[in-house]
Amino acid sequence: SSMTIMKVRDLHPQIICPLCGGYFIDATTIVECLHSFCRSCIVRYLETSKYCPICDVQIHKTKPLLNIRPDKTLQDIVFKLVPGLFEDEMRRRREFYSKHPESEPADL
Ligand SMILES: [Zn+2]
Ligand SMILES: [Zn+2]
Repeated sequence: SSMTIMKVRDLHPQIICPLCGGYFIDATTIVECLHSFCRSCIVRYLETSKYCPICDVQIHKTKPLLNIRPDKTLQDIVFKLVPGLFEDEMRRRREFYSKHPESEPADL
């Protein structure tokens, strides 16, 4: 229920993406300021901006995607703290790629 989600969020605000309000998926950190987001959230955001959405630091003069890094440590924490999230995400991807086999990444 939404009550349960609210409680988990109150306990773990550090694992919530400020752009989508959900748990980090493919947690990605800006090298300049160490703020973190879901990969898809920050990549989409940086299509129209070169500045961090939280602290407004300039990420890169021309190519902000060069200065973001996958944060595996943070993502592991999210999966540990949120039971079932990993399974949900893997199931979601399997369903997506079974409908769109042409977009399946080689490393899955
Ligand atoms: Zn997000
Ligand atoms: Zn920042």
